[in-house]
Amino acid sequence: MHADPRRAIPQTDSLLADPRLAEPQRRLGRPRVRDAVHDAQERARAGALPVAELINHVLRGLPPRATTLRPVINATGTVLHTNLGRAPLSSAARAAMLAAAGYVDLEYDVASGRRASRGRGTLDALRRALPDAGDVMIVNNGAAALLLAVTVLSAGREVVWSRGELVEIGDGFRLPDLVACTGASLREVGTTNRTTRADYAAAISARTGCVLKVHTSNFRMTGFTSSVPIGELAGLGPPLVVDVGSGLLASDPLLPDEPDISGALRSGADVVTASGDKLLGGPQAGLIAGRADLIATFRRHPLARALRVDKLTLAALEATLGGPPSPTTAALHADPDALRTRAAAIATRLGDEADVVSSAGEVGAGSGPGVALAGWAVSIPERYAAALRSGDPAVVGRLSGGRCLLDLRCVAPADDDALVEAVRACR
Ligand SMILES: *Cc1c(COP(=O)(O)O)cnc(C)c1O
Repeated sequence: MHADPRRAIPQTDSLLADPRLAEPQRRLGRPRVRDAVHDAQERARAGALPVAELINHVLRGLPPRATTLRPVINATGTVLHTNLGRAPLSSAARAAMLAAAGYVDLEYDVASGRRASRGRGTLDALRRALPDAGDVMIVNNGAAALLLAVTVLSAGREVVWSRGELVEIGDGFRLPDLVACTGASLREVGTTNRTTRADYAAAISARTGCVLKVHTSNFRMTGFTSSVPIGELAGLGPPLVVDVGSGLLASDPLLPDEPDISGALRSGADVVTASGDKLLGGPQAGLIAGRADLIATFRRHPLARALRVDKLTLAALEATLGGPPSPTTAALHADPDALRTRAAAIATRLGDEADVVSSAGEVGAGSGPGVALAGWAVSIPERYAAALRSGDPAVVGRLSGGRCLLDLRCVAPADDDALVEAVRACR
């Protein structure tokens, strides 16, 4: 007579009560762990798993964290990699998010015990960072900032906009389509390559809601071209909205073609919109800066409620604005000699298969197209690339000339050991 193998398999509840499964249940929740237990029991019943191995099998199969988002070591050399979540947050911003994760005085004044205005500390930090702004506002992303500004100023009216600046921002999304969603109509002026101040002036009428200038972030036009600087559009009459895109607070000599919010305001823009998670190096957010009377009308519009940011974003943005240089700034301005020294040390640790090669990084996220950031990479055989990507943390390098390049620009020096370990684990 054979013993019924099912007899020997412990019940689900007694497996879930095993002390080794207590921490995973706190980390992932009981249902997730129970599913894994059921799977292990199935295998044991089928004779594919020894009963003594049940718990170990469950532990091996459970994910390391409660999100399926997997940390990545960005060895691509692209600083703002949209597919990798754009700007990595500073440790100050991460700590601020954690502090804001529970109950917080988001809309509460602890001194009086009364309601207080949402995000006031972050707005103050943004005002301090942009002394040229009459007022500021924070929404969900750059597209939301533009949507709100154009809706309030131009719904049912016309947006005067150069044909040279009708931009597709990426993934098939086109700003003219976004603006069309507001109920404003487009009054296109000029041509693809040339638009003059007279073109704008001729298009302005009683139907004009605003003049819109959009930074052509992700492409460059050369040759027989002309566009009208902000200073010449200010004073045309209608409010001038400028979408600078990348969110630089002040100009950066490394990126001479990137407009900054302060500069746009000083040149006469009435409203400036920008992203929080591009060159500013903060969380995904949309920044609006400009005339206080206009921003007051933005705040009261119903869309403002639909576009408002959460407490985690407010916390991370405040810490980014007031805090140490962001990882984005550090990566953009990384010293090439320091990158080379790190690359050499890593290549030495990895042995014969690794070389040090010069490697040009990119700004990314449509900012600074064509700007080559001089740097260095560790070059290893291309066959490592796929295994590196499927590790935890995943390591994403850049394929070039049959090699896998691990560009160190966006790798925090503290991650050099993890990078070496990841490559060794692929051998
Ligand atoms: C990136 C960009 C946007 C969109 O900003 P998100 O924060 O990604 O929504 C809009 N306009 C310009 C010019 C941009 O560069």
